[in-house]
Amino acid sequence: MIIVLLGPPGAGKGTQGERLVARLGVPKVATGDVLRAAVKAGTRLGLEAKGFMDRGDLVPDRVILGIMKETLSSPETAKGVILDGVVRTEAQAEGLAGMLKEINRPLDAVLVFTIADDVLIARLSARTTCDHCQTPFMDMAPGTTCPKCGGHLVRRKDDEPDAIRRRLEVYTAQTEPVIHWFRDHGAKVVSVDAVGTMDEVEARALAALGR
Ligand code: AMP
Repeated sequence: MIIVLLGPPGAGKGTQGERLVARLGVPKVATGDVLRAAVKAGTRLGLEAKGFMDRGDLVPDRVILGIMKETLSSPETAKGVILDGVVRTEAQAEGLAGMLKEINRPLDAVLVFTIADDVLIARLSARTTCDHCQTPFMDMAPGTTCPKCGGHLVRRKDDEPDAIRRRLEVYTAQTEPVIHWFRDHGAKVVSVDAVGTMDEVEARALAALGR
């Protein structure tokens, strides 16, 4: 089972992705998490990605295609995978489609989480993220201890106002066209209203998957 999660930053893809992991029994891969871990570890990948990420720009497709390839060839994704924020440009969508064709696996569904910009800006501005397990929290101050793993809650650089605005612009210009690309190429694309409690949004996501 291969599922792509699309939607603007702050729409709840990560949170709902975790819930789908528990429901469907397949792992989730988020390029944002992979890249942040690389930045923290100071690897070559991290050094290359950091500037793009801090500004709220997309890292180059070549980098993402490499992560995608590694993900799909890993034994851990043999039963399936939830791809969270992994496809953000048409070139990435084409790359994913090509890789899936090569390994003869179908794309089961593309879930598009929809939400208004003003709600997103409010959410992202109030968000802190654990620097260890990457769990996001709302309305918990930076410096607080993560209740999940004991790490430190920090304000992500790209959750500062300028970067939030830039990420939303980038989403509209580069990622929204991907929704049409998937539709035009015969994928099952389903919109999920991302406003509501986590349980409500989860129920909608499961219904979109026919569960
Ligand atoms: P996220 O955690 O999904 O909000 O991603 C954080 C940042 O990582 C993004 O603003 C981009 O700079 C970068 N990133 C994550 N996934 C991708 C992708 N598929 N394509 C390009 N850049 C990405």
